[in-house]
Amino acid sequence: MADGGFSAVLAPTHLLSSGRDAFFGADCAVAGFLRHELDRRGLTDRSVFYPLALPTVVLRDRAQLTLLIEGLRATPVDAVWLRLSPFGTSTSGPIALRHYIESAWQLQRIGRPLVGERTGTVGVALLAFGAVGGIESGITLGERFDAQSLTRPRDPRATPFSPPPRVYLHEIGAFLSRQSAETLFQSRQMIAALGCRDARCCRGGTDGMLKNPRRHFVLRRTAEVDRIGGVAPDARATVYLHDVLAPAALLSVRAARVAPELLTVQRRLEAWHLTLDAIVRAGPCPVPLAALGQRSGVTNPKPQAMN
Ligand SMILES: [Zn+2]
Repeated sequence: MADGGFSAVLAPTHLLSSGRDAFFGADCAVAGFLRHELDRRGLTDRSVFYPLALPTVVLRDRAQLTLLIEGLRATPVDAVWLRLSPFGTSTSGPIALRHYIESAWQLQRIGRPLVGERTGTVGVALLAFGAVGGIESGITLGERFDAQSLTRPRDPRATPFSPPPRVYLHEIGAFLSRQSAETLFQSRQMIAALGCRDARCCRGGTDGMLKNPRRHFVLRRTAEVDRIGGVAPDARATVYLHDVLAPAALLSVRAARVAPELLTVQRRLEAWHLTLDAIVRAGPCPVPLAALGQRSGVTNPKPQAMN
């Protein structure tokens, strides 16, 4: 690690079944030893991130949530990466989304930045609503985390290769296969409504989106995060709701008329809007610690203090 130019390491962890899972204590101890060994080798500036992988339902239980918060507060990690199962764009119905946001607000009592893993497009909403201070994302793929993919035996007929990249429709936060996107962009109205207008991102608008979907996705998602990050924290939720989500929901109605496979996207955006609007009306969202990928001000950096 010292020679590899790495700035951080993910602590090895288990998929926990509950807040009382015995492996949680073991994971915290390993993270502590990892910190100790890094420090012993003079790598005091390298961060340790703790992936908290567990069923989403666990965080709805106040007693289990408290156990997790107490354990993580005593562990010298610089950020907690949330791998909640199942959660992600396609599994974030109104109830799941509200619970994720409210649970993450509670988890912030850890006093370290939270990063939402595999959240997909809904991750931008999580940032805007102060649930997490950073998001991790696959590139056009991997929009949700589902632990069943780890616990189920692998299908021997499944291909070992990753599927081809999908085309990101940034105006509505949705993905289509290249073939479906080509069909959609036969409509001039859809080119005007959904095509990339940033010449530095995609030359030729939709041509660039189809030819290099990975580049288009990375640049657009980065711009989405920057847009939220550029707004004062107390205004992020409102700006996201009115300037990002509301226009996207409207546009998705038109897009779904041309490409019926986008009907699920339309319904999802409308459901998010209802849920997030209710959260905005209930009061201001907390401001999370920003996940900058650096050492945070941990109060208990010495692993031996855990014993
Ligand atoms: Zn583009």
